[in-house]
Amino acid sequence: MSRENVYNFSAGPSMMPESVLEKAKREISDYNGSGMSVMEMSHRSKLFDEIFQASKAKLKSALNVPDNYEVLFLQGGATLQFAAIPLNLMGQGGSADYAVTGNFSSLAAKEAQKYGRVNIACDSSDKGHSCIPEALRLSADSSYFYYCANNTIYGTEWQSVPDTAGKTIVCDMSSDILSKPVDVSKFGLIYAGAQKNMAPAGLTVVIIDKSLAGRQADICPSVMSYDTLIKKDSMLNTPPCWCIYMLGLMLDWLESIGGVDEMEKIKKQRAGLIYDVLDNSRLYLPHARRDSRSDMNITFRTGSDELDAAFVEGASRRGLLNLKGHRLTGGIRASLYNAMPMQGAQALAEYMKQFEVEHHV
Ligand SMILES: *Cc1c(COP(=O)(O)O)cnc(C)c1O
Repeated sequence: MSRENVYNFSAGPSMMPESVLEKAKREISDYNGSGMSVMEMSHRSKLFDEIFQASKAKLKSALNVPDNYEVLFLQGGATLQFAAIPLNLMGQGGSADYAVTGNFSSLAAKEAQKYGRVNIACDSSDKGHSCIPEALRLSADSSYFYYCANNTIYGTEWQSVPDTAGKTIVCDMSSDILSKPVDVSKFGLIYAGAQKNMAPAGLTVVIIDKSLAGRQADICPSVMSYDTLIKKDSMLNTPPCWCIYMLGLMLDWLESIGGVDEMEKIKKQRAGLIYDVLDNSRLYLPHARRDSRSDMNITFRTGSDELDAAFVEGASRRGLLNLKGHRLTGGIRASLYNAMPMQGAQALAEYMKQFEVEHHV
């Protein structure tokens, strides 16, 4: 198998656009006539600082980030933020409201419990995380409301930003950032592991309202203090230099296709190709409720574990890779992140229809 005949539906790290990889390949050993790879540069050098500032400016522009927000480029993955958020924002002996709509928000809520009181604002686990709950139970004295915008494992997505009547909103956007416009001003903090829609694994992006910095608990490690990281412009220690450079290439590519406005149209159309097959099928059982569907991760099953396995196996033989569902859910999951070409979704839709004809009893 080679790149030309493969579509990679991995949930993350995920596929990147061909043109981005080609550009990185051309520059990998000699960046812009410097005689150095980006991987070999000091993070304190002028040359790297230009790359760093350019990626930051491009991200701010792509998401229309207001000036009172800071963009941080950090290590530790989304998972580190599960702890950093309460350590910075809960306040001494404080509390926060968490929406539990899947695996990652559940983990985030459990981590936050180590540092303060957690009020579960809603919980979809009794419905197998197949939908986004409508009502939130917010507590009067909590410091923030936390939710995960797109549930990567279960394939559900919040269709709009919830109304919290002014309470600070913190959001994990790891698996749908840059797939549509967002009104950053509605959030106190947005964060995302880069490996789904932005860059290779190793970079975490935090977008924070600067007025929230400086409230960290006494025990908050310096390397996790937003206040310190803002003051040091993400360079308290060595940032993930290569990933920050790759993010710049990804953002150039995103801009070249029309930015997040265009991406929103593309992702709806792309996911629609698969949902059309699911909605007209007598074989496939979609996991997510219709009003809660994700355009990034589509989860379904055939009703039989053997047939699910045959589906995944037959798909890989055709170059449709990594369609096996997460171990928590089983079944099948197709991740259609920004870099997935329309042809990839078309090829999958065709395969699904053919598989149904061959296997429907
Ligand atoms: C992948 C993912 C995570 C975990 O990210 P890491 O960078 O591996 O810590 C957290 N939240 C969501 C929504 C994800 O998709």
